[in-house]
Amino acid sequence: MDTTQRVVGRARAAFRSGRCRSLEFRLQQLKALERMVREREQEILAALQADLHKSGPNAFSHEILGLLGELALAMDKLKSWAAPQPVKKNLLTLRDEAYICPEPLGVVLIIGAWNYPFVLVMQPLVGAIAAGNAVVVKPSEISENTARLVADLLPQYLDPELYPVVTGGVPETTELLKERFDHILYTGNSAVGKIVMAAAAKHLTPVTLELGGKSPCYIDKDCDLAVACRRITWGKYMNCGQTCIAPDYILCDPSIQSKVVENIKATLQEFYGEDVKSSPDYERIINKRHFQRIVGLLKGQKIAHGGEADEASCFIAPTILTDVSPESKVMEEEIFGPVLPILTVKSVDEAIEFINCREKPLALYVFSNNKKLIKRVISETSSGGVTGNDVIMHFFLSTLPFGGVGNSGMGAYHGKHSFDTFSHRRACLIKDLKMESTNKLRYPPGSQKKVDWAKFFLLKRFNKSRVGVVIFAVLISVLLGIATAVVAKNHQSVLKSKALLLVLAVQSLGGRRLW
Ligand code: NAD
Repeated sequence: MDTTQRVVGRARAAFRSGRCRSLEFRLQQLKALERMVREREQEILAALQADLHKSGPNAFSHEILGLLGELALAMDKLKSWAAPQPVKKNLLTLRDEAYICPEPLGVVLIIGAWNYPFVLVMQPLVGAIAAGNAVVVKPSEISENTARLVADLLPQYLDPELYPVVTGGVPETTELLKERFDHILYTGNSAVGKIVMAAAAKHLTPVTLELGGKSPCYIDKDCDLAVACRRITWGKYMNCGQTCIAPDYILCDPSIQSKVVENIKATLQEFYGEDVKSSPDYERIINKRHFQRIVGLLKGQKIAHGGEADEASCFIAPTILTDVSPESKVMEEEIFGPVLPILTVKSVDEAIEFINCREKPLALYVFSNNKKLIKRVISETSSGGVTGNDVIMHFFLSTLPFGGVGNSGMGAYHGKHSFDTFSHRRACLIKDLKMESTNKLRYPPGSQKKVDWAKFFLLKRFNKSRVGVVIFAVLISVLLGIATAVVAKNHQSVLKSKALLLVLAVQSLGGRRLW
């Protein structure tokens, strides 16, 4: 048995031991994770600095703050999230218990990407622990310092059998993907997303794919450009453009293009000063491969600002491209770097058409004073998420599911959505062994009469309002009268059972909410 098999086997055995099912245990693990983040904060920040040149305050707000919020929320809400939820019943189940019970899936695999290397494995981990699973954590090998730290820290704080860390690159992940998991959450590019999904399909394992894509940003002419451009500049150039929901490109009217450029330039100066290279707030490209890829996108483009690059330090200045052609290379793939192309469109209709002709993006941004226009763009396009008059911010609201659609992914997490992603919503119906006569409707021999009554009990829809209830009560009384007469006349047990059901229905009208 190789290492990967052993690790997954141990996690499965630990899950089967049942110890991660109790809410006390889950809470204790979440608390330990919170303690880890607080006690080892400096080491986490140092790893992020080493991997991506992230300054302390930036790394804290991008990778730790949200995680602490997520942990606090999960610990606070776990009891209510995990509680069985009673469901509405029909006439045939009036006396029964019917509820949805969230249960853990089993052994979950979380594969992270390098751009926010800590939070991208930790945040799903919170949801998976809260939902009562065993979790194999696979951080990205490209952000090697953070990967090493995660592998070092987690076993010191969490149950090491239930929550093992596997490090390594493509060969190790390939081996891992041969194993059987009960859910896989993968964050990364769409090409590898397909590999993950194909591997999962072999075991019928469900997947959540958190992918990327080109997230458009439309700026309406009727807009406060200074505010819009400040917000766009923040979201585009944070983490040196290596953010899955960064605005990838701008669409705007030709008449405002130069004003957009001027406003972004002024904001860059405000954020990073004269010499952006020496600003502690400006990160670096993760490695030489990505550096060369991004620099390659500048070829033949009209550079309105920036364009400077230094391969030795993987520095690329915040760059703006104007009058970009939709056919150019920079518009073919997700940029994932500090390069912002501006494409001009003559109307919002053209912008919508442009967006809809391409793959569904992970995020979509619209800036306008006109909220109707924002709603129109939302209703006539599709994307994983949308923020109107800002960028990135839908990510930080934990009540919103975070995920893609189409080529930008499937499934979602954050807050309770994470808990749901890593839970099976089990349908539970508990009956008692009495009232057997009422079941005769469904037992052979079949008859048209039985079908008619079954239709009545299962398909009839009643108004929830009081008036509806009163009318229903009257109707039931009339039917009850008829049924009783028929029972008296025909003395058939099937009819008796129908009458019984009717009595039941009338009884329950007196006290309980039925549907
Ligand atoms: P990456 O290179 O770190 O790869 C992600 C993970 O996939 C790593 O753990 C890696 O080991 C594994 N992997 C890579 N190649 C593999 C293969 N052939 N077989 C099996 N596993 C393999 O990250 P990346 O893909 O460069 O990440 C950038 C992409 O991720 C961008 O498209 C970005 O938009 C997207 N992203 C999405 C989100 C989101 O939440 N939706 C967040 C961050 C990044």
